[in-house]
This record gives sequence, structure tokens and C-alpha cells, in this order.
Amino acid sequence: MAEGYGGRLERASEAARRAGLSALVVAPSADLLYLSGYDPPPLERLTCLVVRPGKNPVLVVPTLERPLAESSGLSKLTEIVSWDETDDPYMLVGKVVGRGKRLGCSDRMWAAHLLRLQQEIPAASFTPASAVLGPLRAVKDAGELERLRRAARYADETFRRLLKDPLESATERDVADRLSDLLLEMGNDRVAFTIVGSGPNAASPHHDPGVRTIQARDAVVLDFGGRSAGYFSDVSRTVAVREATPELKEVYAVVQEAQEQAFRTARPGVPAEEVDRSARQVIQDAGYGELFVHRTGHGIGLEEHEAPYIVEGNEEPLRPGMCFSIEPGIYVPGRLGVRIEDIVSVTEDSAARLNHAPRDLEIVA
Ligand code: ZN
Ligand code: ZN
Ligand code: ZN
Repeated sequence: MAEGYGGRLERASEAARRAGLSALVVAPSADLLYLSGYDPPPLERLTCLVVRPGKNPVLVVPTLERPLAESSGLSKLTEIVSWDETDDPYMLVGKVVGRGKRLGCSDRMWAAHLLRLQQEIPAASFTPASAVLGPLRAVKDAGELERLRRAARYADETFRRLLKDPLESATERDVADRLSDLLLEMGNDRVAFTIVGSGPNAASPHHDPGVRTIQARDAVVLDFGGRSAGYFSDVSRTVAVREATPELKEVYAVVQEAQEQAFRTARPGVPAEEVDRSARQVIQDAGYGELFVHRTGHGIGLEEHEAPYIVEGNEEPLRPGMCFSIEPGIYVPGRLGVRIEDIVSVTEDSAARLNHAPRDLEIVA
């Protein structure tokens, strides 16, 4: 088992104590993976890790998954309590948390489990564990940073290889399939997502690649990512096929400037919302404010989207080790869309980009 999980569990129980929680109840999810390295599938049989301030953590597992938990090295980190098919695991969790009045439940716990826990422990109040675990997971250690850098390298290289073949006359679906193949070829252990929006479809930020055939003078938004050693990549580039229209050139320049300004704003101590504001200001000043319809970015790590969210209202100050996307966009309904996205990490005094794919508007075949 890799080092560091014991330390993470200690930090989590200390953070729970500071937040006034009697326990964190963590279901199979990135939270569980982060705290223990254990990554079982979320299923209808309850598995959860109970982290209590000042006490040893307890993993509640179905008996048939006890060998899996033990082989993952969990017995060194936590006490393992298993339940048989006819036992009531919720009652078991109730016993472990005792008369706790405030429980933090992991955000990805299924409602089916949470509702049963609420029934079983009616005197307790339930809050999202992300309030405690989000800030811990948001700051990456050296090993995590290295994995995020490698994932970003794979994404950049995927983009470079994609453009070796023409986009013109391919369908969006073809291009998405090529992106998937390349992401796996690079060494990712899985494809996370592939967005290919061409021409008017690019105006839909999360367009599902379809049957449209890519044509000359299209702007094509390519937004994709994979997972490598547990950590995600996420990069967007917008390219012009054969020729860039004057409108595309103008919109692209604004988005590029917004992306650059947001990057320059990111440094320790700056509230996350300031990064969003600096991108938004550039786009508003250029008259496109209404067409920038999403937040500027999101944290990334063991999940594609996690804290810190780069959005108005998030006053959380940036800290060294935080990693997140900067991805402003402008979407002109019926005509075109442009988005440029890099993952950045906050350093001791500024920020560094993890993606290095060219950011100037590329004219491609
Ligand atoms: Zn998105
Ligand atoms: Zn993206
Ligand atoms: Zn993103």
C-alpha cells in the first residue's frame, strides 16, 4: 500500500473535529480512494468508511468483499467490520457512530444508502462531507501533481496526433472515436470524455458528438480527457478548418486574452472568484458577456470536477498545490463556439500551466 493514507485519514479526522462533526461516513467514491486507496464499485450492498475524531477509522463491508478490502491493505489502516447477507448494515453503522449528532456523508453516497442511514439514526443531522474533504483533496501533494502533469502531457500529445489527419469530411463521431483511441494509445487507463462540436454545434458547450460532417470554415471545439494512474486530464482547443472566418478570429482573440488574464490572476491568496472575474471582465469588455454561459473552471484530480470551483461566489483563497481548469468560452447560438482550456497548478508565488498544446488559433486540414 502506498504511503500517505494514514496521514490523510488523520488530517480528515482532525478536519472533521474542527468542523464539529462526530463522524465522516464515506461511501465508495473518489473520497474513499483518496483516504484509503480502496476503490470498490458502489453497489446496493453498503460499504462505508467511518472516520471519527480521536478514534480509529472503521470500514464497514459486506462479508463477501472482506477479502477484497484485506487484499487492498485496508487492515493496516482501519478496523474492518463485515456484515452478512441477512444483517442490517445501517444498524451496524449506527453502532459505530454512536450517539453522534452531526454526520458528514460523502457526496457520492447513493440516496438509497443515505435514506436508510437517516432512518436508522434519526437523532443525527447529516451534512455533505465535501465541506471537510473538498479542501483536503483540493491541495495536491507532489505525487498527485506528478500524475496530473503526466495526464496533461498525454492529453496534449493526443491533440497533436489528432491533427495529423484531416478533420474536414469526418463526422464529429469519427473525430471523437479517434480522440478515444489516441487517449488510450498514450497510456491512459480510460477515456473520460470526448466533446467534438463543429460549426453551429460548437455553440453548445457540452455538445454530444454526432453525425454532422465537419466542413471548411468550421470552428471545431475539441474538449477531452482521460484518466492516468487515477488522475484526470481535461483540455480544450478550438481549431479552424481550412480557413478562419473574421468572426471566429475576433471571438478567438477575446477568449485567448480572457484565458491569459485569468491565468495571470491565479496565485496564492487570491480568492477563486477573482480568477473567474478576470476572465469574465475581458469577455464583457469585448461585448460578449452574455455568451460566456459557464464558470471559468473547476478543480481536477481523482475526479474530473472537484474543488476548487472557479466561479463567482467562491471566496476560498487559492493555495499552493491547488489544480484547476481555466476554460473561458464564447458561444454564438447557431454559428460558432470557442473555448480554450488548460489545467493549471498554483505554485508558491504564481501558477503554472500543466497543458502546453498550442494556444494560438490553428488552421487545420
Ligand atoms: Zn465542461
Ligand atoms: Zn474540458
Ligand atoms: Zn474542464
